[in-house]
Amino acid sequence: MARYRGSVCKLCRRENLKMFLKGERCYTDRCAMERRAYPPGDHGQGRQRKPSDFALQLREKQKVKRMYGLLEKQFRNYFKRAEGMKGVTGENLLVLLERRLDNVVCRLCFATTRSDARQLVRHRNVLVNGRKVDIPSYLVKEGDIIEVAENARKFQRIEAALETAERRPLPDWLELDKDNFKGEVKSLPTREHVTMPINEQLIVELYSK
Ligand code: SF4
Repeated sequence: MARYRGSVCKLCRRENLKMFLKGERCYTDRCAMERRAYPPGDHGQGRQRKPSDFALQLREKQKVKRMYGLLEKQFRNYFKRAEGMKGVTGENLLVLLERRLDNVVCRLCFATTRSDARQLVRHRNVLVNGRKVDIPSYLVKEGDIIEVAENARKFQRIEAALETAERRPLPDWLELDKDNFKGEVKSLPTREHVTMPINEQLIVELYSK
């Protein structure tokens, strides 16, 4: 599967938002957004023009896509799925993204970033209801038990990630049993659980053209 291999800090700078894509570093003064909070590139510090409606819609879509580490085709597929669901398309989209297994592994603090979480899942280090699941896009359901596989519990990076749990508040739709490397999906997430500043309506407008 293709994936973005460039600097993730540039993505934050482009979207003018701390998206916490680099784990621990994001909480220090080495964060690129603390040092260079302007768009990357030669003209990043130049005069910024007023963005068009299209530019605003595009940026919002790029922002969410990058936050969850998806490629265009995957993201568009989520949008199509959200459109076919009951309720508000934009909200459905965010809820679907939030239910991804890699996101849940990250939210449960078994990993510091979604990309780390994705690697853990791909390498068969995560169990869902007692069975190994190596599909990062697996959508969790209410009542699912997510745990770190026995052999991976001694991984230093998982221990380090769990140590960050204090300052990464656990959303109330999840429950974490840190000592047993286990979490539970108590309920499905809702729009209110996505706390990053996102105007999903702009994404709906972009894809509805
Ligand atoms: Fe974004 Fe983290 Fe890089 Fe800061 S350190 S720019 S929050 S990825």
